Amino acid sequence: MSLVSVVALLGVLLVVTPAHLRAQFGTQQQPVRIPEPPPIQPIDDIRYLSDDRLGGRMTGSPGADTAAAYLARRFEQVGLQPAAGGWFQSFTVAKEAPVAQHAHVGGLQAKNVIGILPGRDPVLRNEAVIIGAHYDHLGLGGFGSLDPDSTGEVHNGADDNASGAAMLIQIARRMAGTRPARTLVFIAFSGEELGLLGSSHYVKAPIYPLAATLAMLNLDMVGRLRDKRLIVYGTRTAKEFPALLDSLNWYAGFDLKRQGDGYGPSDHSSFYAAGRPVLHVFTDLHEDYHRTTDDWNKINQDGFEQVSDFTTGIVTALANRPTRLTPVDLSGPRSAGAGHHTDSAAAVVTPGYGAYLGTIPDMTDSPGGVRLLGVRTGSPAEKAGLRGDDVITRIGPMQVPDLQAMTDALRSHKSGDTVDIVFRRGDRVTTVRATLGTRGG
Ligand SMILES: [Zn+2]
Repeated sequence: MSLVSVVALLGVLLVVTPAHLRAQFGTQQQPVRIPEPPPIQPIDDIRYLSDDRLGGRMTGSPGADTAAAYLARRFEQVGLQPAAGGWFQSFTVAKEAPVAQHAHVGGLQAKNVIGILPGRDPVLRNEAVIIGAHYDHLGLGGFGSLDPDSTGEVHNGADDNASGAAMLIQIARRMAGTRPARTLVFIAFSGEELGLLGSSHYVKAPIYPLAATLAMLNLDMVGRLRDKRLIVYGTRTAKEFPALLDSLNWYAGFDLKRQGDGYGPSDHSSFYAAGRPVLHVFTDLHEDYHRTTDDWNKINQDGFEQVSDFTTGIVTALANRPTRLTPVDLSGPRSAGAGHHTDSAAAVVTPGYGAYLGTIPDMTDSPGGVRLLGVRTGSPAEKAGLRGDDVITRIGPMQVPDLQAMTDALRSHKSGDTVDIVFRRGDRVTTVRATLGTRGG
């Protein structure tokens, strides 16, 4: 029952109540005005999920369970339905996974939260479009944190990825009002920070067959729009994507950075490895990435709304287009063994695999090398003299034309190795020597 109807009922009661009750309620004939609670805004969802009391939402932790229960409630409020098995898709973090040993989560139960908006078209409703966002984060740091001194402190992960989870809810609410032709499956994934565990589980146990899944749209870090610069990965994974994005951006007016590859360090990689077209919407890395300072008050709310409008446009187009997409297989020599590729892509931004350099790569372009956004304080990269805007082109004997090559180069070394790093700074090409470390070292 809403507050409005309570007030209406009281108004009726006042007319017929005896004198002693009238005295208690007051004798004024003016209707009682009780303000309605304001509707929950995306920033409220972000604040809830990134509250200290959720403890950084480490996969399998009580805080992650609280977040999952909250997301299921919000899915229901905005008009989604649970799958046949309920709101949660549970999975166990494999004990033998190396990542599980680092983060001490092996054997724990984790859960994806899944909400469904059934399609209205009698034929197209048998096809699904997946919109996903991970809700787990780094807990109390240590594994995955870029600030080794902060171990034990809550890593709130407001942008990474309470922002994506909040946008998931907002898009669900908007789409629920439009009755789309195809079925929409909204998934809040767990275990992303530990190596895309939740999305890997889903593609093995999909709610709708993957063959009938048109595409997967991933929202990971969408709350820090700067200078209208929006990055979309996977734009070449379906033939129709470039034209679709261009037409939507014609009035959205983003400085749109289109990246063709369907692999990247987030959940869309799992779906691309399974042969589905994917898009990953992303407002880029920043200095608070994977640190304790990724807080809700740094979210760009206007930017969030703009990205949400744009993304809702993509979902609407995918949900209602009369024909299916034309998947493009971009696999060259690089993607032999998609699982390996996925893991190593995650390794670049989640240190803990192979030797550690401490660079923060700029994921928007690789101008014949890997451009750095910055380097971690006290890291081997900083000690070697590297800094933001440098473009790394070689590590040891290996050429580094892009992020994947850089991951491979670092994986081929171990902690304590000394390597020569060649990089461009402006017009000059320089070589420095770095002693690689271990994560947190
Ligand atoms: Zn992350």
